[in-house]
Amino acid sequence: LTRLYAPLTSLAGARVEVMSALVSFERVFEVLDLKPLIDEKPDAREVPEGPVAVEFEDVRFGYPSADKVSLASLEEVASLDTRGGAEVLHGISFRAEPGQTVALVGTSGAGKSTVAQLMPRLYDTDEGAVRIGGIDVRDLTAVSLRETLGMVTQDGHLFHDSVRANLLLARPGASEDDLWDVLRRSRLEDLVHSLPDGLDTVVGERGYRLSGGERQRMTIARLLLARQRVVILDEATAHLDNTSEAAVQEALAEALEGRTAVVIAHRLSTIRSADQILVVEDGHIVERGTHETLLAEDGRYAELYRTQFANPADVVEAA
Ligand code: ADP
Ligand code: MG
Repeated sequence: LTRLYAPLTSLAGARVEVMSALVSFERVFEVLDLKPLIDEKPDAREVPEGPVAVEFEDVRFGYPSADKVSLASLEEVASLDTRGGAEVLHGISFRAEPGQTVALVGTSGAGKSTVAQLMPRLYDTDEGAVRIGGIDVRDLTAVSLRETLGMVTQDGHLFHDSVRANLLLARPGASEDDLWDVLRRSRLEDLVHSLPDGLDTVVGERGYRLSGGERQRMTIARLLLARQRVVILDEATAHLDNTSEAAVQEALAEALEGRTAVVIAHRLSTIRSADQILVVEDGHIVERGTHETLLAEDGRYAELYRTQFANPADVVEAA
C-alpha cells in the first residue's frame, strides 16, 4: 500500500499513481486510497499557523474488507462503504507536542504503519479522532493537509523523472544550490555527479536504477527541502547501510528539527533520541516513555531493545 503513496509529494501526485494502478489492473483495492482524497467537507478548514501538535484520541480502525472490492469504476470505488474489516487499532491515544518526535516501536504487524496512514487520510478512523493543530483531519482541506504533512516510507518511491524533478516536488521553487545542498547533506552528491546526466538523469522504475539505500537518501533529501511542519517516517532508514547511516541520521535529525514528527523506526539511534516512545502491540499502546524510563521498566520495550534494535553498531553506541 505504501508503494502507492508518494512520499512527501502532493496528494495529487498520489492520485496519478492510483490511476495508473487502475489502468494496469494492479491490486485494485488500493484505489480505496482515493476516497479520502476526494472527500473534503464544504466547510473544510486550514491547519492553524505555527508549530502544531498531532493527536490521536481513542482511535479504532479496521481495514475495509477486501471482498467488497472488485474491478470497479472510479465512481463505484468512491461509493464503497469502507468500514467493516476486522479491527486493527483498538483505541490508540497519544499526543506529539509541537516540535516533538514520537517514535512508534513494536513487532511486525502490530499496527504502526496503520497509525501512520491515518494521518494523511489514506484511510479514515472508524471511531475516535486524529487531530493536527487541534483540528480533526477530516475537517481539513486537502490542500492544507498536504502542505502540513509529509510522509517518507520504506520504499523511497521515486517518480519516473529526473533527479531534479523528483527533488523539486518537495519544494517547487528550490534553486540549483538548494538542490546540491540537500544532496550533499544526504550523502548523494557524489552519486548524482557520477550519473550520466547529473541532476537531469531520469530515475525510477524504467530509468536509472538506484539502490534501496540511495532511494531512501533521496527521500531524505526531499524531506530536507520540504516545508511541511509535520513529518511521518515509516521505516525511512530501513535500507541504509551502516557506512552511510551515521551521516544520514545526522541529516535526518536536522530535518526533524522544529517539526512535529511521528517516526516508525528499527534503528536504535532514531528511537533513542525521540521525546516519547510508544510501544505498539496488537493495535494497543502497551508502554510509553523515554528510552531510559522504558529500559528501567524492563518490560516489552526492554525486550524489543535486546532482540530487535540492538544491531552491533547500535550496541557500541548504546554502551
Ligand atoms: P506494522 O506496521 O506494525 O508492521 P501494520 O500497521 O502494517 O503493522 O499492520 C497491522 C495489521 O493490519 C496487520 O494485521 C496487517 O496484516 C493488517 N493490514 C495492514 N495493511 C492492511 C491492508 N491494506 N489491508 C488489510 N489489512 C492490513
Ligand atoms: Mg509497518
